[in-house]
Amino acid sequence: MIPKVDLPEGVGLQTLAVREGLPPSAWGENSEALFLTSSFVHPDAATAARRFANEEEAFVYSRFSNPTVTMMERRLAALEGTGGCIGTASGMAAILMLVLGLLKGGDHVVCSQSVFGSTIKLFQDFAKFGIETSFVSQTDAAQWQAAMRPSTRLLFAETPSNPLTEVCDIAALAEIAHAGGALLAVDNCFCSPALQRPAALGADLVIHSGTKYLDGQGRVVAGAVCGPEALIDTKFVPVMRSAGMSLSPFNAWVVLKGLETLGIRMQAQSARALRLAQWLEAQPAVERVYYPGLPSHPQHALAMRQQSGSGGAVVSFTVRGGRAGAFGVIDATRICSITANLGDTKTTITHPASTSHGRLSETQRLAAGITQGMIRVAVGLDDVEDIQADLLRGLAA
Ligand SMILES: *Cc1c(COP(=O)(O)O)cnc(C)c1O
Repeated sequence: MIPKVDLPEGVGLQTLAVREGLPPSAWGENSEALFLTSSFVHPDAATAARRFANEEEAFVYSRFSNPTVTMMERRLAALEGTGGCIGTASGMAAILMLVLGLLKGGDHVVCSQSVFGSTIKLFQDFAKFGIETSFVSQTDAAQWQAAMRPSTRLLFAETPSNPLTEVCDIAALAEIAHAGGALLAVDNCFCSPALQRPAALGADLVIHSGTKYLDGQGRVVAGAVCGPEALIDTKFVPVMRSAGMSLSPFNAWVVLKGLETLGIRMQAQSARALRLAQWLEAQPAVERVYYPGLPSHPQHALAMRQQSGSGGAVVSFTVRGGRAGAFGVIDATRICSITANLGDTKTTITHPASTSHGRLSETQRLAAGITQGMIRVAVGLDDVEDIQADLLRGLAA
């Protein structure tokens, strides 16, 4: 048996964020240990045999079991309120794991057309194995309902979406999924459990790119699938064991320590994002601002209900002059990092149409609402006045 941390019943999420994991090792370390070992030693051959046969729970081999990875998984599961979690090499590996663990040829998926570009590509690639995906509106639940088939096994949503910050109604999608005998998976990358807990709204599985807010300082690539422990153990652990899209203990450790400050980072970055979005709305060179925290956002009320009253830390906007106008604003910045990553303490700026969504066709991009004049800013912990001045240089020109 792998022991649990001895915490009183009912402690709060922030306490879990700094303490859930495993009890300390024999040395009593206060900060969680980084177990850089590929395998674990057994006292005798018979014990090794029992452990390999899954008859006795123990750490065996870091492709599928490692104490540092387990600590990250337990902590993230506690924050998401799912009971179980499995760490993966990246956010995309988590989605790959979802498909490999749950679906077979002949199964059907309903997915928002506004999800992360690589997610669309991955679901399209699975057509060659006979898994078909229907892409539907992010915001119109009736389209999800209409796309359901007897063979539908999975609904996949991401909210708010990247880069338009469109919000879908998790509870409504969960109802559609369950009525059709399917599961709902939600990519919770943009809000993180600090703002949004999809499982509490009815989602069965929660997907994470640990690369983003969970790490929080742009250091490592990581991912996770969170869900009920029984589902994780029966559907996903065997896939990890045989397919090996494993999370490295080092990357798990970075994310584990990142989770400790997730709550205060999300609060601080979201507060800055709201101020930036309000300021952008008042700029004459800005055509439109996309931010769920603004009353002008089409799903503002839903977002406030679903996201703990917060708009999150990603703000997108369109400028006059199409691609040239957008490039002008991006190139005039001196503080914002020109990179497609998000969730960093450093504010990042990107042109979605030519980067994160560059592999899509123009038709697919327009279906997702991504125009050439669009810019996405993922607000970090920079002083917001400095970010405003940074953007004003290009907007004024
Ligand atoms: C980045 C991202 C992913 C993919 O995560 P990686 O860790 O880069 O593989 C998936 N979904 C969303 C919403 C993302 O932003």
